[in-house]
Amino acid sequence: MLYHILLTDVCNLDCSYCGGFSIDDLEKAEVSYSLEELKRFIDGDPEADVAFYGGEPLLRILLLQKMMDELSARSFLVQTNATHLDELPTSYLRRLHTLLVSVDGREKITDGYRGQGTYEKAVANAWDAKERGFTGDMVARMAVSKNSDIYEEVTHLSSLGLFDHIHWQLDVIWGEMWEDLDAWLEGSYNPGITRLIDDWLDAMRGGRIPGIAPFQPVLSDMIAGRKSHIRCGAGIDSFAITPRGEILTCPICPEFEFALLGDVRTASPEDIRDRVHVGEPCTSCDIKDICGGRCLFANKTKLWGEEGQEKVCGTVRHLVSELERIRPMVEELLEAGIISWDELDYPKINNCCEIIP
Ligand code: SF4
Ligand code: SF4
Repeated sequence: MLYHILLTDVCNLDCSYCGGFSIDDLEKAEVSYSLEELKRFIDGDPEADVAFYGGEPLLRILLLQKMMDELSARSFLVQTNATHLDELPTSYLRRLHTLLVSVDGREKITDGYRGQGTYEKAVANAWDAKERGFTGDMVARMAVSKNSDIYEEVTHLSSLGLFDHIHWQLDVIWGEMWEDLDAWLEGSYNPGITRLIDDWLDAMRGGRIPGIAPFQPVLSDMIAGRKSHIRCGAGIDSFAITPRGEILTCPICPEFEFALLGDVRTASPEDIRDRVHVGEPCTSCDIKDICGGRCLFANKTKLWGEEGQEKVCGTVRHLVSELERIRPMVEELLEAGIISWDELDYPKINNCCEIIP
């Protein structure tokens, strides 16, 4: 199973769409369980994948190193804003399976949400990580909000030649609903997805599979006839451990009762496995087996009500129907050996990409 270990609650940035804690609270956010207690818990899962998360996990580099030295995890991942990535020693960097770098697309869009200079620093440090010998999966982890043009942002990040995969999550069903959401979805986001899928198919016709995280697993599952539970795994086989040792369904919902599953000092992985599932409207949705329910947090809290849920589900329906449209052509490319199934079928482990944006 996947465990997001929140090394701290605080972050050195102050992104417009994030509800995290400020760097001013840094001294309040030390991990309060012991490494031995965490080790006992992780040792209970022979297939543990550990993702360092925050806040900003690289504000706690020494603790991260100690955990990598002590924990018997199958793989280690880091999700970071990358502003301190250059401080992570190379020997630890090279051991990472996946590095998820928060960057939202073009420089002006990223800096607009995340603060002046964050794009330049993140991209420079991601290049530096590659130059220092990181050979794992470098994932651009985008948040997509009202100023984003999904086609332009993804195309730009792709053009850098830096990231192996690009993933995004929509900034929906946590803050206030945007006033012009309908116009953005219909005029920008959904048409942008169609253009990206068309470009993706064109590249595959040339034998190359651009690493676009939301497209690959959904299409692979359609082709293989596989059904999916919630794709991020929250509450089923993916969890978060807070600095205080609480075990949550996912990193972003500490204040909700449904999310609290136990304490790392006393629970075992088997106590928490498969504990929380999405409810209506997902349980009776006709595309549940392919969508999986999108987001457990959104499903449980329903912060935007039925109307908001329908708007967001419209994006899932559009994505699924567009991938269904190109599916016969992709199957032909696979049969002809122009692209490989092994490359298309991504990710091989739950790597913190929630898949459905
Ligand atoms: S499309 Fe919407 S209702 Fe259907 S499973 Fe996904 S999130 Fe749930
Ligand atoms: S998709 Fe939703 S439930 Fe899943 S990890 Fe992200 S915020 Fe949590």
